[in-house]
Amino acid sequence: MTRPLRIAVIGSGPSGMYAADALASQADLEVSVDVIDRLPVPFGLVRYGVAPDHHSIRSVRDTLDRVLDKPGVRFVGNVEVGEDVSLAELHEYFDAVILTYGASRDRRLEIEGEDLDGSVAATDFVAWYCGHPDADRATFERLIPTGTAVAVIGVGNVAIDVTRVLAKTVGELDDTDMPQYVLDTLGGSHITDIHLLGRRGPAQATFTTKELRELGELLDADVIVDPADLAFDAASDEVIRTDKAVARNVEVIKEWATRVPAGKNRRVHVHFLARPVELRGDDRVREVIVERTALDGSGGVTGTGELTSIAADLVVRSVGYRGTGLDDVPFDAKRGVIPNSEGRVERDGQPVPGEYVAGWIKRGPTGIIGTNKKDANATVASLLADQAAGTLPVASAGTVEDFDALLAERGITIVTTAGWRAIDGAERALGASAGRDRTTIHDRQSLIEASMA
Ligand SMILES: Cc1cc2nc3c(=O)[nH]c(=O)nc-3n(C[C@H](O)[C@H](O)[C@H](O)COP(=O)(O)OP(=O)(O)OC[C@H]3O[C@@H](n4cnc5c(N)ncnc54)[C@H](O)[C@@H]3O)c2cc1C
Repeated sequence: MTRPLRIAVIGSGPSGMYAADALASQADLEVSVDVIDRLPVPFGLVRYGVAPDHHSIRSVRDTLDRVLDKPGVRFVGNVEVGEDVSLAELHEYFDAVILTYGASRDRRLEIEGEDLDGSVAATDFVAWYCGHPDADRATFERLIPTGTAVAVIGVGNVAIDVTRVLAKTVGELDDTDMPQYVLDTLGGSHITDIHLLGRRGPAQATFTTKELRELGELLDADVIVDPADLAFDAASDEVIRTDKAVARNVEVIKEWATRVPAGKNRRVHVHFLARPVELRGDDRVREVIVERTALDGSGGVTGTGELTSIAADLVVRSVGYRGTGLDDVPFDAKRGVIPNSEGRVERDGQPVPGEYVAGWIKRGPTGIIGTNKKDANATVASLLADQAAGTLPVASAGTVEDFDALLAERGITIVTTAGWRAIDGAERALGASAGRDRTTIHDRQSLIEASMA
C-alpha cells in the first residue's frame, strides 16, 4: 500500500484522542487519522462533563489538543456516525475504525415518580451547565429559579459536582467557562437546601477525598451530617483499614458530623443509609420518600421499612452512566459495552476485521481520564499487531479527499482542526470580554459559524 494507513476514530473524548496520539506516535508507520465527532468541538466529557470549576482537570484539554497538531491527525467534527455516515460506509474509506464514542446516557432509578416534572438526570444537568449544544436550556432556566430544595441522588463524584455547582455562589463560579446564561440562572437561584442521598454508609461511598472536602469549604453553604448516619459494620471497618482513600473520606465525613452550622444561606445535607423509594408531587416533584437502610455486614444494605420524606422541588438523579448501541455494531445491552477481546470488536465471539473499541464504550463508565490512555494504548497495540500480521482490510477509497468528497456530497459542513482552532479563539475572545479565560459557546449553529471565521 503506497498511501498512509487510514484510521477513523469515532469520538474525540479522551479515549479517542489518546488512541489518535498512540497511532501518530509510531515511528515506522505512516498513518492518517480522522478523529470524527458528532459535535463541532472536540474532547467529549472533558469539555462537557468535568466540572467547569475544576480548572486543573479541565486543562487536560490542552494536552488532548496538542494531539491535533501531530502530523496525520485531524479533527472531523459535526459528523454523526450512524446518522451522517454509517459504520459500513466508514469501512470503505478507512482501513480500520476505532469506536470511542463513550457511554453518556443516564441510568434510571426505576422508582415511582421518576418522570415527574423537576426530576432530572445528572447527565442533563451537567450538559446544561457545561453548555452542551443539545442541553435543554428551557427546563433548567425554569426549574432552578423556581426551586428552593434539591435532592441529589447518588454518592459518586458526579453527584458531588452537581451539589457543589448548586451550592456555590455565582461569585465562586465566575472564573469558569460556563456560558453566561448558566451563570445568570444560577445567580437567580433561591435554593437553600441541597440533600445528597446515598443508600449505603460513609465507607461505601465512591467519592474522591479532594472533591468531598470541597463541599465543606464553600463560601455560603454549611455542610451538615447527622451523626446517626455514621454507621459502620465489619465490612466497613475492613475497607477503612485496607483502603486509604476510604479512610480519608470517612475522616472528612466524621468531622462534618461534629460541625455546628455557621448560619450560611445554603445548607448541604449529606445523608447516608437513605434509599429513595418514590418521588411524589403534583405538577412538579415536591418530596422524596426515603427508606432507612441498614448495613448488611458484607458491603451492601437491607431496607428497614422506616420511611421519611425530604422536601425537594428539584431532584437530580446521579446513579451512573451507561453506553448505547450504534447501528451495525455488536452490543452487550446488559453491560452497556461493545463486546471485545483486547480492544478487537467481537461478533459471536469472533473479531470483526478492522474494528476496534476503547474508552467508556469498551469497559463501561469507570476510572479517571488517565485510565483511558492505558486503555486506548492497549487497543492500538492490537490494531498495530493486526496490521503487522496483514489481517487488516484495505479500504477501497482510502484517502482524505475521498472521505471529504462523500461528506460534501451529503451537504455536511465539517469542522476540521482549523475550524476548531477558530472556535477556540472565539471562545477565548468571548471570555476575555468578561474578564475570564474562556466562555463556552453553546449552540451548534454559533459554533459552526465561529469555525468558519
Ligand atoms: C460529569 C462527569 C464528570 C467527570 N469528571 C471527571 C474528573 O473530574 N476527573 C476525571 O479523571 N474524570 C472525570 N470524568 C470521567 C471522564 O470524563 C471519562 O473517563 C472520559 O471522558 C471517558 O472518555 P471517552 O473518550 O470514552 O468518552 P467521552 O468523553 O464521552 O467521549 C465520547 C465522544 O464521542 C462522541 N460521540 C458520541 N456518539 C457519537 C457518534 N455517533 N458519532 C460521532 N461521535 C460520537 C461524543 O460527542 C464525545 O465527544 C467525568 C465524567 C463525567 C460524566
